This record gives sequence, structure tokens and C-alpha cells, in this order.
Amino acid sequence: MRDPRPGLAWSNRRLRRRAAYASWMASGEWLSRRQAWRDAWVAAHRAEPRCAACGGPWSLSHGDLHHRNYDRLGAERDCDLIPLDRACHDRLHAILESTPAWRRLGREHATDVIVARLRRDATSREGVGDGR
Ligand SMILES: [Zn+2]
Ligand SMILES: [Zn+2]
Repeated sequence: MRDPRPGLAWSNRRLRRRAAYASWMASGEWLSRRQAWRDAWVAAHRAEPRCAACGGPWSLSHGDLHHRNYDRLGAERDCDLIPLDRACHDRLHAILESTPAWRRLGREHATDVIVARLRRDATSREGVGDGR
């Protein structure tokens, strides 16, 4: 979640949710939750997580966990969170917040569509190269 753009009115519901989100993200429990998420991923995949959008390296110290939804804030399931590096996370939010159409689609569905799009972009960039 990012700061509201200047001039954008926020509903009370959204402001309350934002406050709850901010205090959760600042908590020690969230750090433990990130650790547990990473451990579960490694156990399931027998590999370190990678950025879901570009496939680049991801780590607890240099990676974000994006919330696909806020339904279980504070008690997230593993599938509520996806690993993104900082650059891809910024890209995802730039797209997600670019038009209210994404919000209407629902955060989880919108996230999945945008991540799939970023992954396609990353794959097509790989084949191009710069000729050097
Ligand atoms: Zn990435
Ligand atoms: Zn996010």
C-alpha cells in the first residue's frame, strides 16, 4: 500500500484499513511471518523464492511480500503473499493504482493479471538483448 496521491480522497474505511496495515507491517510478528513464509516456500519448492514477476533473486532482506488480498491481515495464508523484488513490486503498484478499473476487478485477481503481464514483459526482454 502506498501513500495516497495528492488530492485523492480516501474513505474512512480505507484510512482505518491503512492504519491497521501500517501497524501490522511495523510489528515484529510480521517479520516472523515473513520468515515463516520463506521457510514454507523453501520446504515446498526445495529452492529459495524468486521474484514472481521477473524470476530474479529474492531474499528476506532484499525482497517484498505483496499482499494479494487483505482478507486475513495478521493471519495471512501463504497463498495471500507473493514474492516480488523491489523494482517489480513498484511496477505492480504503479499499474494497480493507475486506474480504478483494477480496483474494481478486485485486488487478488488484478494482482494475478498484472504479475502475469510483468512476467511476459520480462520473458520477452530476455530474448531481445542489446546487440553487444
Ligand atoms: Zn522482479
Ligand atoms: Zn504490494
